[in-house]
Amino acid sequence: MKTIGLLGGMSWESTALYYRWINELVREKLGGLHSAKIAMYSVDFQEIEELQHSGEWDATGKILSTAAKQIENAGADFLLICTNTMHKVAPQVEAAIDIPLLHLADATANRIKADGIKNIGLLGTRFTMEQDFYAGRLRDEHGLNVILPSSAEREIVHRVIYEELVVGVVRDESRREYLRIMDGLRAQGAEGVIEGCTEIVMLVQQEHTDIPLFDTTAIHAQAAVEMALT
Ligand code: GLU
Repeated sequence: MKTIGLLGGMSWESTALYYRWINELVREKLGGLHSAKIAMYSVDFQEIEELQHSGEWDATGKILSTAAKQIENAGADFLLICTNTMHKVAPQVEAAIDIPLLHLADATANRIKADGIKNIGLLGTRFTMEQDFYAGRLRDEHGLNVILPSSAEREIVHRVIYEELVVGVVRDESRREYLRIMDGLRAQGAEGVIEGCTEIVMLVQQEHTDIPLFDTTAIHAQAAVEMALT
C-alpha cells in the first residue's frame, strides 16, 4: 500500500471527512484491521483565508509548498491538496515536490465523464467558480460545459462556505438556498452539479435532491484509495 499525503486544514472540518472516508474505504477493500497509510500536514486556515481574500496567492503558494515538501519528507508517495480553491496554486506546489499531485479537478472530471455527463453545474467558492484554474480546467482539458449560478447566487454560495461551513455551522436555511440555486442550474441545462468545495457535502447530500451530485471530497478520497492500492 502506498502512503497518501494529505495537505489539509482548509478547513479541518472537511479534512476530517477525508481522513475518515479514506480509512473506511481501505478497511472496506482490505478488511481486517487494515487502515490507510497517511502523512498529513494541517495548516492554520485563518492565515490562508486572509491571504486569499487580499489576493496574496503567491504567499499561500509558499505556505502550501513548504507543507507539501514536509509531507513528502514524511514518506508520502503522492499528494492531495484537500480543497478545491487552493488548487489555484497547484502548479507552484507541484513544482516544489518530487511526488505526483492527485489533482481534484481531474479526479472530478473523470467521474463526470464516466457517467456520460457533459453539461455540469459548479458550486464552490467565488475563486473556484470564477477563475480559470478550476472551471477553465474542466472546460479546456476535459471538454465539459460548465454552468455557473448568477453573480448574486455565487455571492450566497461563497458566503455560506466562509461564514458557516468552514466553522462547522450547518443551517437549514442555507441548505434551502443551495437547493434553490441547484434547481436554477438544472433549469439552465445542468445534468448534475459539482459540490466543488470540500465542505458543501456537510450541507447538501444526495438525499436532499434528485439532481446527480458530484461531491469532490468523496471523489478525491476514493481516487486516493485507488491510487494507494494499485
Ligand atoms: N474547502 C473549500 C474548497 O474546497 C474552501 C476553503 C478554502 O478556501 O480552501 O474550496
